[in-house]
Amino acid sequence: MRGRLVCPFCRHVQEPTPQPEPCPRCQVPLRYELPPSTVSWRGLAGRGVWRYRPFLPSVAPVSLGEGGTPLIPSSRLGPQLGARLHFKLEGANPTGSFKDRGASVLVSVLAAFGARRVADDSSGNAGAALAAYAARAGLAAVLFVPTHASTKKLAQIQAYGAELVTVPGPRPQATAAAKEACQNSTDLLYASHNESPYFEVGLRTVAYELAEELSGEPPDHVLVPVGGGGLFLGLVRGFLELADLGLISNVPRVHAVQAEACAPIVRAWEQGLAAPEPVCPGKTVAEGVCIPLPPRGREILATLREVKGVALAVAEEEIEAAWRELPVREGIYVEPTSAVAVAGLRRLCAAGVIEPGERVVVVLTGTGLKHSPAGSGD
Ligand SMILES: [Zn+2]
Repeated sequence: MRGRLVCPFCRHVQEPTPQPEPCPRCQVPLRYELPPSTVSWRGLAGRGVWRYRPFLPSVAPVSLGEGGTPLIPSSRLGPQLGARLHFKLEGANPTGSFKDRGASVLVSVLAAFGARRVADDSSGNAGAALAAYAARAGLAAVLFVPTHASTKKLAQIQAYGAELVTVPGPRPQATAAAKEACQNSTDLLYASHNESPYFEVGLRTVAYELAEELSGEPPDHVLVPVGGGGLFLGLVRGFLELADLGLISNVPRVHAVQAEACAPIVRAWEQGLAAPEPVCPGKTVAEGVCIPLPPRGREILATLREVKGVALAVAEEEIEAAWRELPVREGIYVEPTSAVAVAGLRRLCAAGVIEPGERVVVVLTGTGLKHSPAGSGD
């Protein structure tokens, strides 16, 4: 397989394996890196995630047509805020969220390694994505879910034939149970959407699409909701790769928005810490970003500084207001987690971080069709 796994901090290098361990020194998940290459826009073919094959692990794609999602100008919110605003509609992916990009690459890599069974802990979009791509590849999937998971999303996961294991207690218990089951099994691989380097590689394709569609001139700012932070890290890594190759003129400031009810990154950011400390999450409609201690937290904080991004938290009332406003004023129905980034946009415009006339993209992470008032899961 082209590429290697590298620690983002001490540069420890490892050859790709199906289930990479964290860096032995820093105890953080490794990152997939390509050898220096000569990719050009003209060398790309097809559409969607696998259009960017020169950037991805060299394996046979397990694909459902993910990526290539619409980028549309805002009709009312942008003009009102004075920003040149576009929305990236990730709800248009095959299972309804950006997680399909990561799942497609991760399952492709695991299938190439000869995997038969894969596991993850998720009660929401990531679980549905992994279940769908596992089904597509003919692999068995086991999803460890907290007891409070929403029935709509569980129904979607089960529809793909995945096995559900319900884990009592708070969300981190499901992660622990999934890891333990994989350690005790000879053929069950931990296919974590929060920790696997292969999943994050797939998310970089959002950056490639934005850059290519905007003719090599990426926006000044990009806003994303942050829970595990895979999308944030993938976006920035994707832009940095393009800048290294000379394919874009500037790297955008990418901002991380969290819900106040669960904002470990924002707290660490405000206190100037190098790594987040676990928080005790409160109740939020944005359950997709409710991760009390993101495994890549230290990398997220370092990356924010690298691209002059801002970490900010928004209140429940702001999230709900943004979520109700989008369908009415823009015709876009998203999950509440996506509205976190829209609420963040208002804050950054009001604070002058985003100046009038600047070009902004807000990534709307998932469709509203799966939302049920009981909660949405991640
Ligand atoms: Zn390290």
